[in-house]
Amino acid sequence: MRLVTVDPKEYNKEIDRFNNSVIALQNIFTKRYASKFTEELDDKISKITVYTDRTLIGGGYYGDTNIINGRFNIRYGTSDDLKQNTFITIHELAHVILTPINKSEMKELNGIVSSQGITKLDKKENEFYGIAFTESFCNIIAKITIINREHDSIDSYMVNGLHNYVYNYYEPFEDLTRLLIIASVNDYIHDYKFDDIISKGINMILDNPINRPYSTFINSALDNDFSMEEEFDSFTTKGEFRRMCQELDDEMLKIDINEDITTPNYDKTVFDSQLIKIETYYFNKLEYLNRKGYIQNTEIKEKLWNTFEEIVSSIRNKFIVL
Ligand SMILES: [Zn+2]
Repeated sequence: MRLVTVDPKEYNKEIDRFNNSVIALQNIFTKRYASKFTEELDDKISKITVYTDRTLIGGGYYGDTNIINGRFNIRYGTSDDLKQNTFITIHELAHVILTPINKSEMKELNGIVSSQGITKLDKKENEFYGIAFTESFCNIIAKITIINREHDSIDSYMVNGLHNYVYNYYEPFEDLTRLLIIASVNDYIHDYKFDDIISKGINMILDNPINRPYSTFINSALDNDFSMEEEFDSFTTKGEFRRMCQELDDEMLKIDINEDITTPNYDKTVFDSQLIKIETYYFNKLEYLNRKGYIQNTEIKEKLWNTFEEIVSSIRNKFIVL
């Protein structure tokens, strides 16, 4: 791994930030997962270029990752806002850790293969889907990492959507992803408690009831598997997860063309229809869990549903009803 800064004076500062970012990132995952990706980082990254003048790479808070010969080339621009710089560093690092480097980590199902995180490639159609979810998940990983390092409440971000970042380019996508992470939480006894599980790692496996991950979404993205897609489809209709991915990816593509990052030009009806899909998934899942006895009683089910619906309406009010 080689780090280059356009301003040679900034080298030591950047290498420090990079190392500190890796340490902070390790702390949000289980020890086993963290040690695996730390070992791999050198193999996966060929070069990191840091631009201290952001105009050189298009201005704005910007970073990108390109895969050349199976290894990552990362570029990002820094600013006076140190937290924002760390955010971008960790966002780009998240792309790296979500990408499988060897064949054994890649999964295949009916001609569809894992690409990066939730993103899959349909080889026959030569079509990717899930890019918006993976992109948003990189933001979520970066935010959780920084909030955890600052000893602030992860739940106030994950559940209530509160954060103090300038970077809001993907925010509507991020809120849907946050909602899906919550809807896929497999602890049916407590409310959503990311603050409590962070010391064990956000990808921890619950002892109870049947060795499920804390959140299916999180582990599915980290394992590059199809479990989130399969679970979603099983509580909605076959192909629903992929359709949701594609509609969001199309929207993200449109926004990427738009220069103004503060007022993204997205289609509210598309966002609303994905919200409804996630609500349907969660509603049917709770019904199933209640029927099968995984949820003790109807009051607990209703409490989980009401908390979830509060999150849904806060997202709806923020992006859709205006
Ligand atoms: Zn990204």
